Amino acid sequence: MNVTIATLGELLVEFLAKKENQGFSTPGEFWGPYPSGAPAIFADQVAKLGFKSLLFSCVGDDAFGSMNISRLARDGVNVRGIAVLPNATTGSAFVSYRSQAQRDFIFNMPNSACGLLNVNHLDESLLKQCNHFHIMGSSLFSFRLIDAVRKAIGIVKANGGTVSFDPNIRKEMLNIPEMSQAFEYILDYTDFFLPSDGELDYFGLSKSRDEEKIVASLFARGISHVVIKRGPRGASYYSASERYHMPGYAVDVVDPTGAGDCFGATFVSLFLAGYSVSDALARANASGSLAISQRGPMEGTSTLAEIEEFIASQEAR
Ligand code: ATP
Ligand code: MG
Repeated sequence: MNVTIATLGELLVEFLAKKENQGFSTPGEFWGPYPSGAPAIFADQVAKLGFKSLLFSCVGDDAFGSMNISRLARDGVNVRGIAVLPNATTGSAFVSYRSQAQRDFIFNMPNSACGLLNVNHLDESLLKQCNHFHIMGSSLFSFRLIDAVRKAIGIVKANGGTVSFDPNIRKEMLNIPEMSQAFEYILDYTDFFLPSDGELDYFGLSKSRDEEKIVASLFARGISHVVIKRGPRGASYYSASERYHMPGYAVDVVDPTGAGDCFGATFVSLFLAGYSVSDALARANASGSLAISQRGPMEGTSTLAEIEEFIASQEAR
C-alpha cells in the first residue's frame, strides 16, 4: 500500500540540561538547540523509513525555524505545510532529567509560532493525498490546534484513511482544560492508539487498573489497534483477535526523549505498509532503542537499513 502520513503540531528547538537534577532555578549549562517537537520527530522518523511524510506546523522567521525546516527537508519530510510567520518566534523547550528517567520541562509553545497554527494553515489538497493522520496529545494545547486536528481528521477519514493517537501526556500540560475534552473527541476517531503503560490509568474509563479491561473498553469505543509502550520492557499489541508482547532491547540510555515518537512512527508506517504485527513491533522497539542512544530528541531517528542492522546485531549477541 502507498503510505502517506500527515501529522500536525509543535515544531520546536530543545535545550537539554547537561547535568542530572540541574533544574531551571539556577544558572547552568545546556546542550542545544536541537530540532524537536513530538509530531516533528514522528514525521522525521516516517520520512527516514522512506515513506511519504507531511508535517503541518509554524515557525518564526529566525534561525531556530530555518534549522528545523532544513533538518526535516534533509530527512525527506514534505515541509510545504510548515508556515514561516514573520511576527512570531519559533517555539522552544528546556528539559532537565532527574534520576529514574523522570524529567521536567519548561515549554514555550502556546506563545510561540507553532501555537498560532490554525485551520487556515491546512492545505487541503496536500492532506487529501494522505491515507493516514497521526495526532500527538502534546499538540492539543490550544483551541486553534484542536480545531485544526478536527479538520484534518475529517479530511483524512473522508478519504478512507486511518488515524493514530499517542496521548504523549506531559505533566506540565495536564491543567489545560481544552486538552482532556479533545482527548475524548479524538479517541472516537482513533484506529491506532499508542499510549505508554504509565498513561493507561488516565484512560481507565472504568477506573480500572486492569490493563485487559482498559483495552477492552477502548475496543468497545471503536479503536482497532492498541499498542502499549513500556520503555525498557518493550511493547505490547492488542487487537480484538490478536495480542503480542515484544521485550525491549538492552541499550545504554543517553537521552530518552523521542523514543515513543520514533517507536510510534515506525510501528504505524510499517503496519500500514503491510508488515506483520510482530515484525512491525520488533522494528518499532529497535527504532525506540536507537532513539535513546543519541543525545537530542530528533538525532536518533533511523533508516530501515539502520533498524535492520541493529536487530541483526542484537540477534547475533
Ligand atoms: P517519550 O514520550 O518520552 O518519547 P514514551 O513514553 O512514549 O516516550 P517509551 O515507552 O519510553 O515511550 O519508549 C518507546 C519504546 O522505545 C519502548 O517501547 C522501547 O522499545 C524503546 N525504549 C524506550 N526506553 C528504553 C530503554 N531504556 N531501553 C530499551 N528500549 C527502550
Ligand atoms: Mg510519548
